[in-house]
Amino acid sequence: MADIIKLLPDHVANQIAAGEVVQRPASVVKELLENAIDAGAMSIKLIIKDGGKTLIQVVDDGKGMSETDARLSFERHATSKISSAQDLFNLHTKGFRGEALASIAAIAHVDMQTRLEGNEVGTHIKIEGSKIVSQEVVAMPKGTSISVKNLFFNIPARRNFLKSNQVELRHITDEFHRVALVHPNIAFHFYNNGSEIFSLPKTKHRQRIAHIFGSRMEDRLVPVTEETEVVKISGFICKPEFSKKSRGEQFFFANDRYIKSPYLHHAVVAAFEGLIKTDMHPGYFLYLEVDPSSIDINIHPTKTEVKFDDENTLYAILRSTIKHSLGQFNVAPVLDFDHDPNLDTPYAYKEKDAILPKVTVDASFNPFKETGTVSRVSRSFQKPSTKGWEGLYEGLQSDAEGDTFSSVVIESEGEEQGTLYSEDELAEHMATTFQLRRKFVVSTVKSGMLVIHQNRAHERILFEKFLGEITVKEGVSQQLLFPLELTFNKQDLGILNEIQESLTNIGFAFESLEHEMVKVTGVPLAVPESGIGTVLDRLISDYKEGFSDGSLSQAEVLAKVLSKNLAVKTGDVLDQESQLALVNNLFACKEPTLSPFQKLTYTIISEGDIDKKFS
Ligand code: ADP
Ligand code: MG
Repeated sequence: MADIIKLLPDHVANQIAAGEVVQRPASVVKELLENAIDAGAMSIKLIIKDGGKTLIQVVDDGKGMSETDARLSFERHATSKISSAQDLFNLHTKGFRGEALASIAAIAHVDMQTRLEGNEVGTHIKIEGSKIVSQEVVAMPKGTSISVKNLFFNIPARRNFLKSNQVELRHITDEFHRVALVHPNIAFHFYNNGSEIFSLPKTKHRQRIAHIFGSRMEDRLVPVTEETEVVKISGFICKPEFSKKSRGEQFFFANDRYIKSPYLHHAVVAAFEGLIKTDMHPGYFLYLEVDPSSIDINIHPTKTEVKFDDENTLYAILRSTIKHSLGQFNVAPVLDFDHDPNLDTPYAYKEKDAILPKVTVDASFNPFKETGTVSRVSRSFQKPSTKGWEGLYEGLQSDAEGDTFSSVVIESEGEEQGTLYSEDELAEHMATTFQLRRKFVVSTVKSGMLVIHQNRAHERILFEKFLGEITVKEGVSQQLLFPLELTFNKQDLGILNEIQESLTNIGFAFESLEHEMVKVTGVPLAVPESGIGTVLDRLISDYKEGFSDGSLSQAEVLAKVLSKNLAVKTGDVLDQESQLALVNNLFACKEPTLSPFQKLTYTIISEGDIDKKFS
């Protein structure tokens, strides 16, 4: 029988390889950007048309290629970056496989112009489906420009598989972020369909993050640094209060390469434990540097999955480093309702030795003397301040808060009543309200004791107020003395435009909504001036999510989002006046029993319930 095994022609082999390397336009963007960086570029331009389907172009001012190299670069396994297997364990470049250009040229129309610094002229090569169609001499600045047109022109199945331009652009933008975030020392410009969407000057890491994700990001970042024998960690985490419902900004880089690592991600989440709710995602930008020989980036062709030699140690170091940063920068728990911050050791004291308390003995103390402890206690009870009442419950540990509450009341009523209060004083005190564990507002009603969940109740009040204002257009606006200028990215700006009318109805005033700049000239009374940026940010991100289920009207979504963000929180101290207002306003609502998120706003513990406790 005749031999049947044949070597595949190069262009077929290349097409097959291309399937691995190039999944979508974003993969091309990644490869071209990385090549430009490997070539030592200081300034890189990325030009995209139609989500990369029509054009992907990268222009760099790097070292360029000679005429021979220019041709060779399109051969498979042609690389200038490694020459032996040993080099694989000591990689300092992004590329090393020599596959990218060959793969791209197999499935697209590629046009490359490149000039070495010392040469007078450059080389212009056109290549289509792995075939060189022309080669000319060209006058051009030093560096390289590669355009990739009509991606997958010869693989219709792949081309049809591409998503909408918008989705492909999003993938491209993700890749762009990943590359730009590790190279703040390189300037980047990104044009989409003729308009510039990113212009990133050469800078430092922190500013690069802010240039990409918005200037308000800068205040949210907490630096992280640690240097051990195993790893050097630098970068930033976002303060816990800016955690997001969606994954948002989570970036790991190892030796200047974007990586994905569910395991290390877990270490970060573990460090945030107790500081954010479990359904929220912390933001981070973490740069790890490890010995190149201790990391295997080779296990996946698109190279985002990596394997570290000693992952467990890395996990532990990462987790404790982040905890340390969170502590050092005094990032206090904001959402842990059951946690009593009074019991925390301030971070600055944690590493100090404990000092023995001094005990001084009052030699003249006589427990049988007239001015004893009893009268002192009763005095402090005669003028109950909110703080005093709260003080009663401090230190009481109970999981069922209802129990804690009633048992305390029972104690104070059972033991002290009569001796501490006259009948009148008692009635007067009970007619008002007090705050319990900065979470509930308690008052009396005919049938017993009213316990209001301050956060949910306020959400209900604000929800109805905003809903009314959006529909009736009567929101009271507070003019800002100094209008606030905020920048938003294109997508967020779109949303802001979409909801602008409703926002105006409730009291926001905007002057210009263009060029990613928004001038806020007025805000609703309920919005504190210092929190405008944050409120708008959350508004936009919650609105994006709120609308996804599609069952609510725009007014409802906005009212919900605003009420959630502006309502008093658990942990907020309310003065007497605010407590009373909360009670009165809640019962003036159309639906006082439930928060806009369908949670109970208040409960009444009846006299019968209390009686039962005594039986
Ligand atoms: P790799 O990056 O893995 O080496 P590529 O196929 O991406 O493989 O590139 C092949 C070779 O072409 C590179 O090793 C490099 O020498 C050269 N090259 C590619 N892009 C550029 C560029 N923008 N500037 C200079 N040289 C480049
Ligand atoms: Mg490469």
